[in-house]
Amino acid sequence: MNIVFLGPPGAGKGTHAQRLMKELNIPQISTGDMFRRAIKEQTPTGLDAKRYMDAGELVPDEVVVAMVKERLAEPDCQNGYILDGFPRTVAQAEALDTIAHIDVALNIDVPDEIIIDRLSGRRVCTACGGTYHVSMLGASTKCPACGAELIQRDDDKPATVKNRLDVYQEKTAPLINYYEKKGVLSTAKCVGGTVDENYALVKAALNAKA
Ligand code: AMP
Repeated sequence: MNIVFLGPPGAGKGTHAQRLMKELNIPQISTGDMFRRAIKEQTPTGLDAKRYMDAGELVPDEVVVAMVKERLAEPDCQNGYILDGFPRTVAQAEALDTIAHIDVALNIDVPDEIIIDRLSGRRVCTACGGTYHVSMLGASTKCPACGAELIQRDDDKPATVKNRLDVYQEKTAPLINYYEKKGVLSTAKCVGGTVDENYALVKAALNAKA
């Protein structure tokens, strides 16, 4: 099954996609993670993407599409995949349609005020990639899982968060309509609640279409 996760930054796409990946035994493909890895490895794509990411802007469509096309051609994608953070523009969705059939577009609908609190309080482990909210950490700056230093992503800083939400509304939100017209959209309304409760809503939305 080929699944697309839609929703604003901080909606929980990555968290739910990782869980679903294990359940369905298909890979989660996060373009944001791919870019962060490319930046760490200082590849040409990474160096190009960094300036857009730091500003909360989208990396140009042709760069993202080329990267995703290459990834979807790998053998582990043959039985399906979960796209997390791609497509983010109508042009990307159209390019995806030329190489893949999307079975379900799962839209995680979360109010802006929850998003802003989540993103500005998010801390990421520099070693294992674990993600936490400051409210769970007390005064600690170390990863509860592996003990390494936690950092705030540059693009989780307040001014950039605001820009990412504006960019989402302008460029990515139209995809909700795009996939609805194709008859593959299913929405999980996650208004607060625990991660487990929200995951149950995501699963119910998936099962409604799968
Ligand atoms: P994410 O981790 O999905 O929030 O992505 C972090 C940043 O990577 C975004 O703010 C963009 O700058 C860039 N990015 C990730 N996926 C895409 C995409 N599909 N199109 C354009 N830029 C992207």
